[in-house]
Amino acid sequence: MSDVQLQFIGSGDSECLSYYNTNMLLEHQGKRLLIDCGWTAKRALHDLGLGITDIDAIYITHVHGDHVFGLERFGFESRYVYHDYRIKLFVPQGVLPLLWDETLKGSMGYSSDGENKLEDFFDVCVVNDGFTWQGLEFQLFPTPHTKGKPSFGIRLPHRFTFTSDSNVINDFESLVDDDKYIFHDAYSAGDFHPAHATIEEMRDAYLAKLRQRIYLVHYDDGIYDRLSSLQDFAGIVEQGKVYTC
Ligand SMILES: [Zn+2]
Ligand SMILES: [Zn+2]
Repeated sequence: MSDVQLQFIGSGDSECLSYYNTNMLLEHQGKRLLIDCGWTAKRALHDLGLGITDIDAIYITHVHGDHVFGLERFGFESRYVYHDYRIKLFVPQGVLPLLWDETLKGSMGYSSDGENKLEDFFDVCVVNDGFTWQGLEFQLFPTPHTKGKPSFGIRLPHRFTFTSDSNVINDFESLVDDDKYIFHDAYSAGDFHPAHATIEEMRDAYLAKLRQRIYLVHYDDGIYDRLSSLQDFAGIVEQGKVYTC
């Protein structure tokens, strides 16, 4: 089993100025899969010495700006600047209409070539409960995030689970099984959020032995001032750090 390298090119929430959007880069056998592509993705990759043509595929967890607004750049530049460099785009079936019809079409639906479809920019792969990339079999799971907006976390069994944006998840301990890394959305700036799990909600929902395996991500600018109050978790995701599994 060859190693997979995980790296959050950003680890902040959508209001954050100190950290980029929570988007994860996965590298395996020299190819790279980007998990979500927010408006900071191009800059965040640039900081790591990477560009659009270093990305083989993108998986989208749900439609919010910090997870999809970067796709306009990736689509236009891969087509027009890099002359039809094609990125595979894995999109859950329930997410696709929101992604194209209600989000990207307004800006990408027409270009100097005339009317466009999403397929004119990406090799679109519509997925349901999982997909295979570079021989790795990913599982997707629905997450409770925003009412009316489907969202799906991603898991590579035994290696990692990443919730992307989510409230606390029922029976999360069975879902993550023996995964080496668990990355969980954490609303860290207050006691309540309708769409994101707060630290206290995670304490109520998850047993201590599970919390000790959870790395918190999608946090606010002030997170490093409060690290001492988070010692019952594995820690917070460090932006740019490489996790090998
Ligand atoms: Zn979201
Ligand atoms: Zn988000």
